[in-house]
Amino acid sequence: MQSHLTQQKKITILGSTGSIGRSALEVIRSFPEYFQVVGLSAYSNIDLLKKQIREFKPQYIAVFDTKHIQDLQHEFKNLTIYSGKEGLKQISSIKVDIVLCAIVGAVGLEPLLTAIESQNDIALANKEPLVMAGRLITQKANAHSVKLIPVDSEHSAIFQCLIGQDINTVEKIYLTASGGPFYNKSIKELEEVTPQEAIKHPTWSMGKKISVDSATLMNKGLEIIEAIWLFGLTEDKVDVVIHPQSIIHGLVEFSDGNMLAHLGPTDMKLPILFSFTYPERVFRPLKRINIKELSNLSFDYPDENKFPCLKLARTVAKKGGLQPTVLNASNEVAVQSFCEGKIRFTDIYRIVEKTLEENSYTNCNDCNLEIILSIDQEVRKKSIEIIKKLTSR
Ligand code: NAD
Ligand code: MG
Repeated sequence: MQSHLTQQKKITILGSTGSIGRSALEVIRSFPEYFQVVGLSAYSNIDLLKKQIREFKPQYIAVFDTKHIQDLQHEFKNLTIYSGKEGLKQISSIKVDIVLCAIVGAVGLEPLLTAIESQNDIALANKEPLVMAGRLITQKANAHSVKLIPVDSEHSAIFQCLIGQDINTVEKIYLTASGGPFYNKSIKELEEVTPQEAIKHPTWSMGKKISVDSATLMNKGLEIIEAIWLFGLTEDKVDVVIHPQSIIHGLVEFSDGNMLAHLGPTDMKLPILFSFTYPERVFRPLKRINIKELSNLSFDYPDENKFPCLKLARTVAKKGGLQPTVLNASNEVAVQSFCEGKIRFTDIYRIVEKTLEENSYTNCNDCNLEIILSIDQEVRKKSIEIIKKLTSR
């Protein structure tokens, strides 16, 4: 039996101090023989970044603020240090086997495109760029023969079910959702939930933004759009089911009635590991499911009246054009505003809906990066205005 991967892989992690970034480094720590860290990037958690540099010895790092450069260079004499938005692009352009995109939000778009242009394969956790600029990213990846390997657990599940399959035989894919921390609350109770409650996810431990998105179910809406681009499917072929146990991460139904499901422990290290080793697998598990402990796997359709963000995202996915760009930008602004205690949980939907009403770009299928970025900025301003009006009442 083969006991090792055919090649050691060089890896850069964008967002190494975040939830996905830290899990990715745990994966690398478990398999040091297979992976070598070349680059790391962080925003503000410099103490953690320093620990990561000491342990994983990258050659390159990128930090947001130039004020950290001197201190870092003093301790790490041979390290090349980049900074700012430009620095993220510079580190993404270093040739490696895989760039793990694990930054949160639209800010990850430009480094992702740079990594693709530099012919680095992508392990993609950062879903917001795919929502705002899916066509641009997938076209660029095709043009540069770059693989986009999903890290998002549902998409990794579908990706694994689709290996060796003809995409034209796919009748439907099902993305599973735990339902988040508020699934059993009433609409009235949802008005009062706090950011602290929203970020306490029942089955996954994640960054703040995606935790709030999981609580509104906007995350599953973003994931519908993510799946459309990753797998080249139309919106009507992507379904969502509530599966509170988070054991089955995705299912594929084929034209002949056969269905494949992917099961895995509730731990992002597994999809991260697979994104690093694809198309191979390692011969030692990080974790396994005990099949005897599996009972009571339940599935249900989501309540879109209680969680209207999901319905809104689906409508946007259907309309296409730049609607997803608008959805993503306004959602990022609304979620931040909720986390800062400025608006209610249920206002997130109201703000995104209102922003969409006021920005109806539907027929821009070939928009370039400049147009997408300018619309992203315009929409953010609009959403901030809407929030100001709402909160001054
Ligand atoms: P997080 O908030 O824990 O980490 C975000 C990382 O991005 C940090 O390293 C931070 O330093 C960096 N960052 C934030 N703002 C930045 C900026 N302006 N410039 C440069 N770097 C910046 O987020 P996370 O939970 O790890 O999620 C990362 C991405 O992965 C998100 O897009 C999320 O939707 C996706 N994702 C996460 C999970 C999960 O389990 N956490 C699962 C699936 C998908
Ligand atoms: Mg997911």
